[in-house]
Amino acid sequence: MTYRTAHQNHPISLPGSPRAAQILHIQYPLPLMTDGPALNEDTTSEALRALLAEIDSALADAENAITTADSLPRLDELRINYLGKKGRLAGLNQKFGQLSAEEKPLAGRQLNNRKAEIVRIEKERREQLEAAEIRRRLEAEAIDVTLPGAAIASGHLHPLERTRREMEAIFRSMGFRVMESPEIETEWINFEALNIAADHPARDMQDTFFTERGRVLRTHTSGNQIRTMTELEPPLAIISTGKVYRCDSDVTHSPMFYQTEGYLVDKNISMGHLKGVLNAFLQSFFGANVGTRFRPSFFPFTEPSAEVDVECIFCKGSGCRVCSQTGWLEVLGCGMIHPTVLRNCGIDPENWSGFAFGVGLDRFTMLKYGINNIRLLYENDLRFLTQF
Ligand SMILES: [Zn+2]
Repeated sequence: MTYRTAHQNHPISLPGSPRAAQILHIQYPLPLMTDGPALNEDTTSEALRALLAEIDSALADAENAITTADSLPRLDELRINYLGKKGRLAGLNQKFGQLSAEEKPLAGRQLNNRKAEIVRIEKERREQLEAAEIRRRLEAEAIDVTLPGAAIASGHLHPLERTRREMEAIFRSMGFRVMESPEIETEWINFEALNIAADHPARDMQDTFFTERGRVLRTHTSGNQIRTMTELEPPLAIISTGKVYRCDSDVTHSPMFYQTEGYLVDKNISMGHLKGVLNAFLQSFFGANVGTRFRPSFFPFTEPSAEVDVECIFCKGSGCRVCSQTGWLEVLGCGMIHPTVLRNCGIDPENWSGFAFGVGLDRFTMLKYGINNIRLLYENDLRFLTQF
């Protein structure tokens, strides 16, 4: 007779004795076998019964411990304890010496069946614990999208840039174009074409930065007027904002500052147009009720020339420290473009006339935001800048 054990592929033979036949056919009362023959209590030895009881006990203990193991490390420990080379089931093998030759294969099969059962239970529990571990990690590592995020600090425009944009928007609304011109100019464009003679005080080395190649860092943005009047055909209405440079530095002067220059050339332009445009600009910028006044002045590039004051925006004209108790703030210079300047740019002053004005962007920014030191605008101190 030939059988295959649960764990062996090679056949084993049972001896053909009557006892063996009994062993094969008589039902043992305990449900020990999942396959193979049953055992008879009467015919089995005390040693076999004791061993089978131990095997059952080991299975019961293992099943109990494995199904209640609460972690994968604990399960690893139990697997070694029961199934390892020095484990509890391996220890039972040593007791096979007490069995008869007929009993050994049956006890071996029984042991292997139990071992397979423990392996199955262990695998099942392992899958449960692994699934639980995955669930636990998914829950622990899940992102709660309802939590408030960390706010990112956002910057904002520099007060000078805000003033520039506001000014340009006002002039654009009146039909002016915004253009730019170089910061390094020839003396012709920066001075001569603007009717500033070679002996004019502004040409003094004290006031102007010269480059090694005899050019100048522009002292005003009026070079734009010369360039565009030379290149473009009137009618023209243009403003230009940019950095200008002068050898000058104190609380109200910086060696580099910003200027906005604007001009308009067309047929029959008069001082009336100049006053209309500048009043509209100043009232749009400082407030519709702000008073303005035009005082006669002198500039080489305009004739007649004027300086424009606005009613002090701090004391509303009653007199304060900012306006030196006059009630007025000087804000810009302007005038009718000098015929010589028009001629220098190829425009016939008999047919065309125009006005021009220059605005200190820094001064407008300081007045608008109540800043008393021009250097604050250029130091990039965040304690100052974040106030705007
Ligand atoms: Zn005042």
